[in-house]
Amino acid sequence: MRELGCYVGREWVRPKGSTIEVRNPATNGDVIARVAQLGVADVDRAVGVAAEVSPGWAARSPWQRAEVLRKAADLLENRAARVAKDLMEENGKPLSEAQGEVAKSIVTFRYYAGLAAALDGRAFEGGAPQLRHETRKEPLGPVAAVTPWNVPAAGPARKLAPALLAGNTVLLKPATATPITAIHLVECLYEAGADPGVVQLLCGSGPVVGQPLCCDPRVRAVSFTGSTAVGLQLKNALGRSMTRLQLELGGKNAALVFSDADLGTASSHILGAAFASAGQQCTATSRVLAQREIYQPLLELLATRARSFVVGDPFDQATQMGPLIDEAGIRRVEGFIRRAVKEGARIMTGGQRIPRPGYFFEPTILSHVHPGMEISREEVFGPVLSVMDFGSVEQSVELLNATPYGLSCAVHTRDIRTAQFVAKNADCGIVVVNGPTAGIELPAPFGGFKLSGTGWKEHGPESLEFYTRTKLVSWGWS
Ligand code: NAD
Repeated sequence: MRELGCYVGREWVRPKGSTIEVRNPATNGDVIARVAQLGVADVDRAVGVAAEVSPGWAARSPWQRAEVLRKAADLLENRAARVAKDLMEENGKPLSEAQGEVAKSIVTFRYYAGLAAALDGRAFEGGAPQLRHETRKEPLGPVAAVTPWNVPAAGPARKLAPALLAGNTVLLKPATATPITAIHLVECLYEAGADPGVVQLLCGSGPVVGQPLCCDPRVRAVSFTGSTAVGLQLKNALGRSMTRLQLELGGKNAALVFSDADLGTASSHILGAAFASAGQQCTATSRVLAQREIYQPLLELLATRARSFVVGDPFDQATQMGPLIDEAGIRRVEGFIRRAVKEGARIMTGGQRIPRPGYFFEPTILSHVHPGMEISREEVFGPVLSVMDFGSVEQSVELLNATPYGLSCAVHTRDIRTAQFVAKNADCGIVVVNGPTAGIELPAPFGGFKLSGTGWKEHGPESLEFYTRTKLVSWGWS
């Protein structure tokens, strides 16, 4: 049995007392590793050291910090196959998805290493001849990064890389279900030459480790990715503080399909985004809004193709969809389907747990879904796609916006005016024209509106805004 440590203070600590059991969701929850479970005193020590070493890391030039990220990317690349295997075992993603996510994390380190110049301030003339101004982008200090289990590598990487490049120290709290991948990332950063204590890796439960970490007054910013329920709880807890808070939360993403769209291409994008990671993605397509004329043929096409989806062992090259994360995930999905059927929805295909070891569920398509039903508004976080119809472009946008979330949407049409109307009126942070709602590229700013997030963006140069503060220095007053 592998026993893995956390990084607290200036060193790796091996498991001593209680441990977290990491389980493989593709089996009957077999334990694959034990990881040290930390407590409040560890959090206190970690934050103290992160604050102590902050000035030293901030004093390194952005180019020196970029070099650490670049080396960490190379080290991660050397061990990519091992990391992908661990990710697959702790999360259940099929091989190609796990490999893709590790590759994206490597690219993330390299991408932010290449953005050192984006930390330059600007200099400009003042209103009088003797006046001159300049801005400086400064790090914030210790920042907390809290991540979910559904993106075990890319989730931590997209916080670690911009935060470290900008000169902050990072206290990373990965999800208890998937700490192994995060451990690999942190090991690579230290092997690459990060100063001792610059990254703290704190494994433990949300209430015991996450909450005290985020609420510690020495922590200057919190970047949280996870459920809307916990995000709102944190927002309340930090309400009276000046801690900067980035929330990247749930979604109820829709693909709008107009009658002039290529249904074959649209259905490929829809099914890919609906069932990748077994629907456990914040940007998963969970609603299809189909124009009345093509509602029936599209519904049948989606159901036929969903029936042939290969669900099974993540290690099998043929597998297109792996398991859900745990038994609670299965129950959650079953509950949503049961209530949807009670409200009038019909199961076109799927709807059942697959009778084999592990937490496997059939790709599911529901028809007769109407606005007002729970399934049309709330995030399921499983392989369930609801198909609804609309008449006009105005109605499509009304339906699109009729959820408390506002993360991502897709519009499938050949008419540029239709695409522009949707893009202008969609109340969500990401609009994709003739593509999937998920898989947004790294240089593109990522984040949602309404209950999907606070508006601070991840990805792209925009991410550096969250991790820096701008200081004005004015020269020339005598
Ligand atoms: P979760 O909210 O249960 O947990 C997320 C993280 O927060 C975990 O590390 C958890 O231990 C920690 N946590 C739990 N309670 C806490 C507390 N009181 N204080 C501080 N930390 C606490 O979410 P999850 O089930 O791990 O992830 C699934 C959710 O994440 C879905 O809703 C999904 O849409 C969302 N998500 C959003 C994005 C995005 O970028 N918008 C990306 C991935 C996942």
